Amino acid sequence: MDQAPDQDRTRQWGQDRDSVRRYGGVDGHGDPSGHPDHVQEQARTMLATAVAEARAGLAEGGVPVGAALYGPDGTLLGRGHNRRVQDGDPSLHAEVAAFRAAGRQRDYRGTTMVTTLSPCWLCSGLVRQFGISRVVIGEARTFHGGHDWLARHGVRIVLLDDPGCAAMMRDFIGEHPELWQEDIGVV
Ligand SMILES: [Zn+2]
Repeated sequence: MDQAPDQDRTRQWGQDRDSVRRYGGVDGHGDPSGHPDHVQEQARTMLATAVAEARAGLAEGGVPVGAALYGPDGTLLGRGHNRRVQDGDPSLHAEVAAFRAAGRQRDYRGTTMVTTLSPCWLCSGLVRQFGISRVVIGEARTFHGGHDWLARHGVRIVLLDDPGCAAMMRDFIGEHPELWQEDIGVV
Protein backbone atom coordinates (compact mmCIF):
# COMPACT_ATOMS: atom_id res chain seq x y z
CA MET A 1 0.00 0.00 0.00
CA ASP A 2 2.79 2.36 0.66
CA GLN A 3 4.81 1.81 -2.47
CA ALA A 4 4.99 4.89 -4.62
CA PRO A 5 3.94 4.39 -8.21
CA ASP A 6 6.85 3.88 -10.52
CA GLN A 7 6.80 7.25 -12.23
CA ASP A 8 9.46 6.53 -14.82
CA ARG A 9 7.87 3.29 -15.82
CA THR A 10 4.47 4.91 -15.95
CA ARG A 11 5.70 7.68 -18.21
CA GLN A 12 7.28 5.07 -20.41
CA TRP A 13 3.86 3.52 -20.84
CA GLY A 14 2.45 6.83 -21.98
CA GLN A 15 0.18 7.65 -19.08
CA ASP A 16 -0.25 11.07 -17.61
CA ARG A 17 0.35 11.89 -13.98
CA ASP A 18 -3.32 11.95 -13.11
CA SER A 19 -3.65 8.28 -13.84
CA VAL A 20 -1.03 7.58 -11.21
CA ARG A 21 -3.27 8.87 -8.48
CA ARG A 22 -4.65 5.90 -6.63
CA TYR A 23 -7.93 5.43 -4.92
CA GLY A 24 -5.95 3.97 -2.09
CA GLY A 25 -5.96 0.63 -0.32
CA VAL A 26 -6.31 -2.58 -2.17
CA ASP A 27 -7.24 -4.86 0.70
CA GLY A 28 -10.87 -3.81 0.52
CA HIS A 29 -11.86 -4.74 4.04
CA GLY A 30 -13.94 -2.05 5.63
CA ASP A 31 -12.91 0.35 2.90
CA PRO A 32 -9.96 1.76 4.91
CA SER A 33 -8.93 3.87 1.96
CA GLY A 34 -12.04 5.95 2.24
CA HIS A 35 -13.34 5.52 -1.28
CA PRO A 36 -16.08 8.06 -1.76
CA ASP A 37 -19.54 6.52 -1.61
CA HIS A 38 -20.29 7.30 -5.22
CA VAL A 39 -17.17 5.42 -6.33
CA GLN A 40 -18.28 2.37 -4.38
CA GLU A 41 -21.78 2.69 -5.75
CA GLN A 42 -20.60 3.01 -9.34
CA ALA A 43 -18.20 0.10 -8.84
CA ARG A 44 -20.99 -2.11 -7.55
CA THR A 45 -23.21 -1.23 -10.50
CA MET A 46 -20.38 -2.22 -12.83
CA LEU A 47 -19.76 -5.39 -10.85
CA ALA A 48 -23.37 -6.46 -11.44
CA THR A 49 -22.59 -6.69 -15.17
CA ALA A 50 -19.54 -8.84 -14.52
CA VAL A 51 -21.52 -11.09 -12.15
CA ALA A 52 -24.22 -11.57 -14.80
CA GLU A 53 -21.48 -12.65 -17.23
CA ALA A 54 -19.97 -15.04 -14.68
CA ARG A 55 -23.35 -16.65 -14.12
CA ALA A 56 -23.87 -17.01 -17.87
CA GLY A 57 -20.51 -18.76 -18.08
CA LEU A 58 -21.42 -21.07 -15.23
CA ALA A 59 -24.72 -21.95 -16.93
CA GLU A 60 -22.73 -22.91 -20.03
CA GLY A 61 -20.57 -25.26 -17.98
CA GLY A 62 -17.63 -22.87 -18.00
CA VAL A 63 -15.39 -21.17 -15.46
CA PRO A 64 -17.57 -18.57 -13.70
CA VAL A 65 -15.54 -15.41 -14.13
CA GLY A 66 -17.13 -12.39 -15.79
CA ALA A 67 -15.84 -8.98 -16.78
CA ALA A 68 -16.76 -5.77 -18.56
CA LEU A 69 -14.95 -2.72 -19.90
CA TYR A 70 -16.46 0.71 -19.27
CA GLY A 71 -15.58 4.00 -20.89
CA PRO A 72 -14.55 7.13 -18.96
CA ASP A 73 -18.14 8.36 -19.02
CA GLY A 74 -19.50 5.07 -17.68
CA THR A 75 -20.59 3.72 -21.06
CA LEU A 76 -20.43 -0.06 -21.35
CA LEU A 77 -17.89 -0.80 -24.11
CA GLY A 78 -17.81 -4.58 -23.91
CA ARG A 79 -18.61 -7.51 -21.66
CA GLY A 80 -17.75 -11.18 -21.58
CA HIS A 81 -16.92 -14.25 -19.58
CA ASN A 82 -14.28 -16.93 -19.41
CA ARG A 83 -14.73 -19.28 -22.39
CA ARG A 84 -11.90 -21.76 -21.82
CA VAL A 85 -14.26 -24.71 -21.71
CA GLN A 86 -16.84 -23.46 -24.20
CA ASP A 87 -14.35 -22.51 -26.93
CA GLY A 88 -11.43 -24.72 -25.97
CA ASP A 89 -9.36 -21.55 -25.74
CA PRO A 90 -7.12 -21.22 -22.67
CA SER A 91 -6.42 -17.56 -23.38
CA LEU A 92 -10.04 -16.51 -23.44
CA HIS A 93 -10.32 -15.21 -19.91
CA ALA A 94 -13.22 -12.97 -18.91
CA GLU A 95 -11.20 -9.76 -19.12
CA VAL A 96 -9.86 -10.75 -22.54
CA ALA A 97 -13.41 -11.52 -23.72
CA ALA A 98 -14.67 -8.13 -22.50
CA PHE A 99 -11.69 -6.36 -24.02
CA ARG A 100 -12.22 -8.03 -27.39
CA ALA A 101 -15.96 -7.35 -27.29
CA ALA A 102 -15.19 -3.64 -26.90
CA GLY A 103 -13.43 -3.62 -30.26
CA ARG A 104 -10.72 -1.15 -31.13
CA GLN A 105 -10.48 1.86 -28.86
CA ARG A 106 -8.10 4.65 -29.68
CA ASP A 107 -7.32 5.41 -26.07
CA TYR A 108 -7.94 3.42 -22.92
CA ARG A 109 -7.20 6.24 -20.50
CA GLY A 110 -10.10 6.66 -18.13
CA THR A 111 -11.55 3.23 -18.87
CA THR A 112 -12.46 0.76 -16.15
CA MET A 113 -12.13 -3.00 -16.32
CA VAL A 114 -14.49 -4.68 -13.88
CA THR A 115 -13.99 -8.34 -13.10
CA THR A 116 -15.53 -10.74 -10.62
CA LEU A 117 -12.10 -12.07 -9.64
CA SER A 118 -8.63 -10.62 -9.10
CA PRO A 119 -7.01 -10.54 -12.55
CA CYS A 120 -4.41 -13.20 -13.39
CA TRP A 121 -1.03 -12.23 -14.87
CA LEU A 122 -2.35 -12.48 -18.40
CA CYS A 123 -5.21 -10.08 -17.69
CA SER A 124 -3.11 -7.81 -15.47
CA GLY A 125 -0.69 -7.58 -18.39
CA LEU A 126 -3.55 -6.66 -20.70
CA VAL A 127 -4.61 -3.85 -18.37
CA ARG A 128 -1.09 -2.48 -18.26
CA GLN A 129 -0.36 -2.98 -21.95
CA PHE A 130 -3.30 -0.85 -23.03
CA GLY A 131 -3.22 1.66 -20.20
CA ILE A 132 -6.61 0.84 -18.70
CA SER A 133 -6.89 3.26 -15.79
CA ARG A 134 -8.93 1.44 -13.21
CA VAL A 135 -9.79 -2.13 -12.23
CA VAL A 136 -12.83 -2.95 -10.12
CA ILE A 137 -12.53 -6.39 -8.55
CA GLY A 138 -15.32 -8.49 -7.07
CA GLU A 139 -13.08 -10.52 -4.81
CA ALA A 140 -9.50 -11.69 -4.29
CA ARG A 141 -10.05 -14.30 -1.60
CA THR A 142 -10.21 -17.38 -3.80
CA PHE A 143 -7.45 -16.18 -6.11
CA HIS A 144 -4.98 -13.35 -5.56
CA GLY A 145 -3.83 -12.22 -8.98
CA GLY A 146 -1.81 -9.24 -10.11
CA HIS A 147 -3.77 -6.35 -8.64
CA ASP A 148 -1.06 -5.34 -6.15
CA TRP A 149 1.37 -5.12 -9.05
CA LEU A 150 -1.11 -3.03 -11.02
CA ALA A 151 -1.60 -0.68 -8.08
CA ARG A 152 2.15 -0.23 -7.79
CA HIS A 153 2.17 0.87 -11.41
CA GLY A 154 -0.50 3.50 -11.03
CA VAL A 155 -3.65 1.56 -11.90
CA ARG A 156 -6.49 2.48 -9.58
CA ILE A 157 -7.78 -0.61 -7.81
CA VAL A 158 -11.18 -0.91 -6.19
CA LEU A 159 -11.50 -4.22 -4.40
CA LEU A 160 -15.09 -4.76 -3.32
CA ASP A 161 -14.62 -8.06 -1.47
CA ASP A 162 -18.07 -9.21 -2.55
CA PRO A 163 -19.28 -12.31 -0.67
CA GLY A 164 -21.43 -13.48 -3.59
CA CYS A 165 -18.47 -13.48 -5.96
CA ALA A 166 -16.34 -15.37 -3.46
CA ALA A 167 -19.06 -17.97 -2.85
CA MET A 168 -19.52 -18.55 -6.58
CA MET A 169 -15.80 -19.23 -7.06
CA ARG A 170 -15.49 -21.31 -3.90
CA ASP A 171 -18.35 -23.56 -5.04
CA PHE A 172 -16.89 -23.90 -8.50
CA ILE A 173 -13.38 -24.69 -7.28
CA GLY A 174 -14.82 -27.23 -4.85
CA GLU A 175 -16.75 -28.98 -7.61
CA HIS A 176 -14.18 -28.67 -10.40
CA PRO A 177 -10.73 -28.37 -8.81
CA GLU A 178 -8.94 -29.79 -11.87
CA LEU A 179 -10.64 -27.34 -14.22
CA TRP A 180 -9.74 -24.41 -12.02
CA GLN A 181 -6.12 -25.50 -11.68
CA GLU A 182 -5.95 -25.83 -15.45
CA ASP A 183 -7.32 -22.30 -15.80
CA ILE A 184 -4.70 -20.72 -13.57
CA GLY A 185 -1.86 -22.80 -14.96
CA VAL A 186 -1.28 -25.04 -11.95
CA VAL A 187 -0.03 -28.48 -13.08
ZN1 LIG B 1 -7.01 -13.77 -16.64
